[in-house]
Amino acid sequence: MVTLTFYGGVKEIGGNKILLEDRGTKIFLDFGMSFGKRAKFFEEFLTPRTAAGIKDFLTMGLIPDIPGIYREDLLKHIGRKPEQPDVQGVLLSHAHADHANYISFLHQDIPIYCGETAKRILDAVQESSQRGIENEVIDFKKRPLFRKDYKKPPIKRKFNLFRTGDKIKIDSLEIEPIHVDHSVPGAYGFIIYTSSGPIVYTGDLRMHGLRAEDTMDFVNKAKEVKPIVMITEGTRIDVPKTDESEPKVYADSKKEILKNQKLTIVDFNFKDVDRFKTFYKIAKECGKKMVISFKHACYLDRYCEDKKLDVPNCTGENIYLLKPKRLTGTYDNSDYTDKYIKQRIDYPNVITAEDIVKKPKEYMVVLNFWYFNMLVDLNPVNGLYIHSLSEPFDEEMEISYKRMMNWLNYFKLNFMQSHCSGHINGTDMKELINIINPKIICPIHTEHPGMFRDLSMKTKMIKEGKMYRV
Ligand SMILES: [Zn+2]
Ligand SMILES: [Zn+2]
Repeated sequence: MVTLTFYGGVKEIGGNKILLEDRGTKIFLDFGMSFGKRAKFFEEFLTPRTAAGIKDFLTMGLIPDIPGIYREDLLKHIGRKPEQPDVQGVLLSHAHADHANYISFLHQDIPIYCGETAKRILDAVQESSQRGIENEVIDFKKRPLFRKDYKKPPIKRKFNLFRTGDKIKIDSLEIEPIHVDHSVPGAYGFIIYTSSGPIVYTGDLRMHGLRAEDTMDFVNKAKEVKPIVMITEGTRIDVPKTDESEPKVYADSKKEILKNQKLTIVDFNFKDVDRFKTFYKIAKECGKKMVISFKHACYLDRYCEDKKLDVPNCTGENIYLLKPKRLTGTYDNSDYTDKYIKQRIDYPNVITAEDIVKKPKEYMVVLNFWYFNMLVDLNPVNGLYIHSLSEPFDEEMEISYKRMMNWLNYFKLNFMQSHCSGHINGTDMKELINIINPKIICPIHTEHPGMFRDLSMKTKMIKEGKMYRV
């Protein structure tokens, strides 16, 4: 008998944690952070306490309280008995936080199966972030973490990496990962061959990106196996098809940049390699130098190891690294204590805001909202700001968005929204499901599961924590 239990991603976008059990073999499909559940109780300055280990997360329902999955040190830390791992693996569809981050809490002996590129991204995240309890996907230090233990090496998790074409065996289960197009490279959907029949899991995907054929490969394979169940994302099931596309982002943005002839500031998610390539190309074609942060540098240095991605490293042609002001505020090299900055601080392509101000129209600065205080030094008057991210979709984002607009107005920056989503629209989604033609659909990663009812196949309205027999 095969069972499915959904511990996250139910009536919410992301936080997928799906337990599949077949003849004693248990695997999780993703183990992500639920932004919605977290935001219900926490915000920027009210966060789960790292010092309390797993306690705040369990108590406030951010992770399910189930046996045989969590780290021994975390269980002991809250006065519980350590448990032997009772799950044989996690299939990680891609490296977005809403699918990956809460792997941090899992027992070190539960292996993680993911694409090679997804692992590179997880490595870059780890390199460029401060260690915290929600950010220990690659490795972790035992808690409670005493000062004397700071220098001890971390405990590494087991990663089994795959590429398209590989087949994975986890005990009695055979799994076929197939690449899909999403706003991050190394994204996969899975076909899981169970004793009841094949189960298909989409992860996150789309049809309007640069690699739509990857998604089609997945769709065709999924159709061939005649799945009994399809667990599908539905982020934008309520959104009809538009003309959004990466080439449109390129064309629209380039046109505005050429028109402006001043400093260009752009914000996009650096995990999105296609978007990086779009703006890298525009910068070159418009005679601008692309300026990135040291955090971004960590990503480029990982991506460039993957020849298929075809991106430069952080000292590559036309790439410059923006030196932030730290400690003394004088750009003295001894101000930089973060390892990822320190090891790159002597690179010949490191520049300062003051360098940019001398010839602003020669630069395109990739600047995230959280670093907008740098605008004070960049003084980008009458320049262009391109927001290449999704528009705000909740209250907190609205507040930040308003604040962002205040900054833009203050510096008389021209605003442009230029983006295409990482998620498939409703029109394409329905078409895709009709092609695959599963017996049963389980919509997750959506606030509108009911909208899948328009389709002719049986649709399960999933309840969180309920076990479904397949
Ligand atoms: Zn997602
Ligand atoms: Zn995603």
